[in-house]
Amino acid sequence: MLEVRGLDAFYGQAQALFDVSLRVDSGEFVVLQGLNGAGKSTLLKSIMGLEVSTRGSIDYDAITGRSEIQTWDTHRRARAGLGYVAEDRRLFTGLSVLENLHIAAGRHAAAREAQVLDLFPVLKTMLKRPAAHMSGGEQQMLAIARTLMTAPRLLLLDEPCEGIAPVLVEAIRDALLALKADGMPMLVAEQNQLLAASADRLVRLVAGKVSDS
Ligand code: ATP
Repeated sequence: MLEVRGLDAFYGQAQALFDVSLRVDSGEFVVLQGLNGAGKSTLLKSIMGLEVSTRGSIDYDAITGRSEIQTWDTHRRARAGLGYVAEDRRLFTGLSVLENLHIAAGRHAAAREAQVLDLFPVLKTMLKRPAAHMSGGEQQMLAIARTLMTAPRLLLLDEPCEGIAPVLVEAIRDALLALKADGMPMLVAEQNQLLAASADRLVRLVAGKVSDS
């Protein structure tokens, strides 16, 4: 589904990833672990074509066939089905839950909305609330829900459980497991053990390299 090979990533002159190789197979839930600064966010940004410059190859099974996407711009990668939720969530905080969802989905909104909200029952109780008035965990759910409205074929999540109340971590874990049961492949950067315990496979980054241990 996604195969990263020999990836080096750079912020200007500073190298943050060194010869990283990793794959996510169809329907697989892979958790990317590592300490702060190990390069988890950088790897997800590299896959999305954001902020960093890279060397190496990124193969992805787009609807149109297997493609090397490392030269594609971010919008093209998103259109090809890569759904990314950044660490800072990037919600429209002045807009309500429903408005955030509708903006993401365009004309497919009505069809997907019920499906997406079923994954996050908490959001159903606050549809008209501005995102600014939601807790961190609720905002995280909304950020994931918003990305799901775009009908992604592979989810890339950056620390969805960081700093979130345990009960909401469980809700996020349950939603991800429901997505997995539906066949959604996922690569999730996360240090939370509850999420790691549900993964098909763990990949650990240490100082910008994949660790074997
Ligand atoms: P965290 O959990 O803190 O986000 P992480 O594992 O996601 O950690 P990255 O954010 O990918 O780690 O950082 C990897 C390395 O790249 C670190 O050395 C960091 O200082 C560096 N780095 C990250 N963002 C930038 C940036 N915008 N400019 C320069 N260096 C950066």
